[in-house]
Amino acid sequence: MKLNKATELIRLRIALIIGACLVLGFMVADVLLLPSSMYSLYFFDRFLLQLPIIALVVVFSLWRRFAQCKQFLFTGLLVALTYSNYWLIWSCWHEFQFVFPYEGTILYAFFCVFALGIPFKLAVAANTINILGFLVLMWFAPVYGDRVAISIAFVCGSLFICAYAKYRLDRSVSMLKESNDRLLKLSKYDPLSDLLNRRALRELSVKLLALSKRHKVSMAVLMLDLDDFKKYNDSFGHQQGDDAIKLQADIMRSVFKRDTDILGRYGGEEFIIVLSDISEQQVAVHCDALLDKWKQKNVVHADDAKHPTMSCSIGAVIASDLRDITIDKLIDKADQALYAAKEKGKACTELVTYER
Ligand code: GH3
Ligand code: MG
Ligand code: MG
Repeated sequence: MKLNKATELIRLRIALIIGACLVLGFMVADVLLLPSSMYSLYFFDRFLLQLPIIALVVVFSLWRRFAQCKQFLFTGLLVALTYSNYWLIWSCWHEFQFVFPYEGTILYAFFCVFALGIPFKLAVAANTINILGFLVLMWFAPVYGDRVAISIAFVCGSLFICAYAKYRLDRSVSMLKESNDRLLKLSKYDPLSDLLNRRALRELSVKLLALSKRHKVSMAVLMLDLDDFKKYNDSFGHQQGDDAIKLQADIMRSVFKRDTDILGRYGGEEFIIVLSDISEQQVAVHCDALLDKWKQKNVVHADDAKHPTMSCSIGAVIASDLRDITIDKLIDKADQALYAAKEKGKACTELVTYER
């Protein structure tokens, strides 16, 4: 994420420098167009107004809070460049009766909106201010004579198309992002329980194990399995069985709340919880809390089930020395502990320490 932000910043700086180069490139064409008597006026506008304004924005990009206000800065840049061009059009006409072209107005808008990424609403604001400025300019200085009306139409039409195209683009990007987020969620989460699916659970657990090894902290893996779930399904139907799976997930979320706790659905009615930097006693307390929550829910079980209300069994393993340990070894131990908990009579925890 950080890397993306840094890349984006570099991309924006390059875009600004390309913008400055374009201004310089157009200067060659402008110099061929302008009589030499107007050079000082023209160079004043380009070298002392436009290029320093662009350079100022590049300097601002070094500011710590640039990312938060860059869109306002770019909007300001668009208005400032456009108005400095209006000033040049007005001055050329007023002082030399020279007709300086207005097309730059359109280029500035397209460049700032699409290359610098001014969002739709700010693009509308900047383009409106610039259209109003052009109307005022044409009112006080009808530079283009009998072409004033068509010039106004061109500026208004182009800036409208610019804002509308930005609207369509922003909308498409946000729809794409939404569907991307949805796909990402689908690929990581189990839709029934909204817990991590087996693949994501494994990936995150491997990362957490690596971090725990690095910081030399403990790690615990808990495997949970609903008791006599087949009988529950047979007695109350699969729909109600699904509700019990959802309830198990809710109970897990209500007990294990740390940001680093990894909760996942491992298989049908089997769940895994991976915890880091935790003591044996804390694991025991959390397992008891989880079993208590099931008791409080008081979900009536099948007549032939071992316990009268729905419960789960927990196999837990805690390892304090993580050298040579893999996530598969921990899951394997938790699985064996779970088997022992079932053997002990279900609705209970079997907590073991990992022996190397
Ligand atoms: P034990 O106490 O020994 O764990 O017995 P059990 O009946 O819970 O164990 P078993 O593994 O034999 O049965 C698991 C059952 O879970 C079988 C299967 O129909 C049911 N099951 C698995 N996934 C789902 C699911 O997504 N929804 C529902 N409703 N049932 C499921
Ligand atoms: Mg099972
Ligand atoms: Mg079971």
